[in-house]
Amino acid sequence: MRVEGTGRPLAAPEEVHDPGSLTGTRFPGQGCAETSALAAALDESHRDLLDGEYWRRIPAYAGLGADEFHDHRFQSRNCVSSLPKLRQVLGGLVSEAFYADVEAGLRLSTMSLRISPYLISLVDWSTPDVDPVRIQFLPLGSRHEADHPELALDSLNEQADSPVPGLTHRYHDRALFLALDTCPVYCRFCTRSYSVGLDTAGVDKVHFGVSRERWEQAFDYIRRTPGIEDVVVSGGDMYNLKAEQVELLGRTLLDIEHVRRFRYATKGPAVMPQKLVTDPDWVRAVHAVVAEGRRRHKEVALHTHFNHPREITAFTRRAMEGLMAEGMVVRNQTVLQRGVNDDADTMQLLVRRLGYLNIHPYYVFLHDMVRGVEELRTSLRTAIDIEKQVRGVTAGFNLPAFVLDTMGGGGKRDVHSYERYDQETGISVFTSPVVRPGQRFLFFDPLHSLGPKARALWSDPDSRACMIAEALQDQAAGARS
Ligand SMILES: *Cc1c(COP(=O)(O)O)cnc(C)c1O
Ligand code: SF4
Repeated sequence: MRVEGTGRPLAAPEEVHDPGSLTGTRFPGQGCAETSALAAALDESHRDLLDGEYWRRIPAYAGLGADEFHDHRFQSRNCVSSLPKLRQVLGGLVSEAFYADVEAGLRLSTMSLRISPYLISLVDWSTPDVDPVRIQFLPLGSRHEADHPELALDSLNEQADSPVPGLTHRYHDRALFLALDTCPVYCRFCTRSYSVGLDTAGVDKVHFGVSRERWEQAFDYIRRTPGIEDVVVSGGDMYNLKAEQVELLGRTLLDIEHVRRFRYATKGPAVMPQKLVTDPDWVRAVHAVVAEGRRRHKEVALHTHFNHPREITAFTRRAMEGLMAEGMVVRNQTVLQRGVNDDADTMQLLVRRLGYLNIHPYYVFLHDMVRGVEELRTSLRTAIDIEKQVRGVTAGFNLPAFVLDTMGGGGKRDVHSYERYDQETGISVFTSPVVRPGQRFLFFDPLHSLGPKARALWSDPDSRACMIAEALQDQAAGARS
């Protein structure tokens, strides 16, 4: 089925002008009972945050009190980074078959393994196969799917847009600075698997360590590029910077006159909120930079990364309240992943729970074309469908934009803004008039979301080239007519 233009419904809803109905429009076959059931489906469960000593279910943590468990030193020293360590922590909680499956998964992975005890304690180990936290951090061989044939390691082409190592300047007024290449944990779906973490069997990475010299090169570039008003400090993850480095980086950016705002990007609050409570030096450094920003009328924000409502606990709330007290703006970016958050209920709950903590849901990213995690990707159609069911649950400013980052450096595009989308071949075509005028960018749905006929076509190099050429050609023809 070929859908042209944007957002056109496939079947027109039947207009029903019923003065007694609140909605006015009903879809064929949908009765009043279902309509009211939908309204009742929104409850206050987004306020029910996990509390108590849930970690005691894990054999290795059963003897720990809250003070020991909720200490960032305990958390970072006891991260699970190998299969033997996982066995030691979980013991008989999971089967031998599960451990064998993990072993097979690790052999196929491009990311290093690193999971905090906190995350381990949030997994429901009675159903690890389908657990949304397990899926994001621990690969299983049995779930592995072959990469899409059009996939490249640095799919966003960040390295091509880098005037100095570890600094990507793609959007006129914004720069992305990769300050370091390590993280408190490693996520399977990481877009920067070309750089982040240790080298793995399949990948020799480009490393961007913390080096005074490299940082100075990046600062110099920002200083001599007056168009830059906004800097994204990412990585890796600034959670792994020392307090002095956090402060040096922040103050240096605030000192540059044309820099009006910047963001620290960190997954920390989602995977190790303890640091925000038990590392006062580090938190003080962040607060000092926020306060300095305010004195200069500049914005210092934190961009974090929650993907599932279960990752937000009572402890998260406590940790975030410290940042809120200093008036820090906190926003969230989510990656849409199959089996994790690719259904409307989960995404609604996530968005409402983030809003409840006054973390602004900023973006939901369609999963990038990253190596080794094809099983996690979803189709463009899924993103569009979920967006439709999330808009309306809360205030408009607390709703995320659903976007995809085009392959080849076209930048982020709203999922609805495709020029062309063939759901049969899974090929969508985007343009990016501001970032790359005149160019077209392709995105490919994962093969598992396509029918058997299309999958067969993709496995043949000739028909593959043909499908792509056709998608681009059709688009040009459409533009002429
Ligand atoms: C995402 C991104 C930014 C920031 O974009 P926003 O839409 O402002 O969040 C800047 N530079 C690069 C290279 C990016 O990928
Ligand atoms: S924390 Fe961020 S940069 Fe680090 S592995 Fe996860 S997604 Fe990648």
